[in-house]
Amino acid sequence: MEDKEFEKLRQQMVTTQIERRGISNQRVLTAMRQIPRHDFVSPRELEQAYEDHPLPIGEGQTISQPYIVALMTETLDLHGDENVLEVGTGSGYQAAILSVLAKTVHTVERIPSLAERARLAFARLGIENVHVHVGDGTLGWVDAAPYQGILITAAAPYVPRPLLDQLDIGGRLVIPVGARYHQDLQLWRRVADDQYHHEIILPVAFVPLLGEHGWNEKKWQELDF
Ligand code: SAM
Repeated sequence: MEDKEFEKLRQQMVTTQIERRGISNQRVLTAMRQIPRHDFVSPRELEQAYEDHPLPIGEGQTISQPYIVALMTETLDLHGDENVLEVGTGSGYQAAILSVLAKTVHTVERIPSLAERARLAFARLGIENVHVHVGDGTLGWVDAAPYQGILITAAAPYVPRPLLDQLDIGGRLVIPVGARYHQDLQLWRRVADDQYHHEIILPVAFVPLLGEHGWNEKKWQELDF
């Protein structure tokens, strides 16, 4: 497929899947119109890059549905000068969207081959404000903290304490919390040093956040709810 055709599919994706479902933040819509999602999917899935569902990216992981990427990004309410942490780099697509909307993005991935692929995609596209780290993102990335925005793109049993600690006062954290087949997308705001408010945005289904403050792989496999 030609670049021009991908461009057309991308504009249609934003209009029909994202704007029509109520995303109205113009900066988010512009970022979604700008970042070539097809550069982040596997060659086998190229034709489906702009469709209304998640796609496999290898290693049993997924790139999220475009609408969910837009919704999570809008919920962070970024203005351009933030330092943002993403947990779960995956394909790198969500981090690329964040790179347009924030000053700096630190993204942590536990699977080295995915982190490497995302690094290559950022280099290809000339994205220089995303820093990819390999490790257990349930511990956050303390070296670059505090963060004005934190986005977790995998399902957690609860909000990892290190992430709450690394959130700046006034900052926002967006995370899916719940069990295997049903999680709630939650927004947490740090309103004072030791005070957080949280609300539920909508039900979602993500792959597990595995790690010290996340799920244990065996426990996740055994879950039947
Ligand atoms: N944000 C990604 C994108 O735009 O393609 C989609 C992420 S995918 C739904 C979830 C990712 O979280 C997977 O790549 C998985 O390996 C990663 N992950 C799971 N547990 C993690 C952890 N403790 N630390 C870092 N990454 C983790």
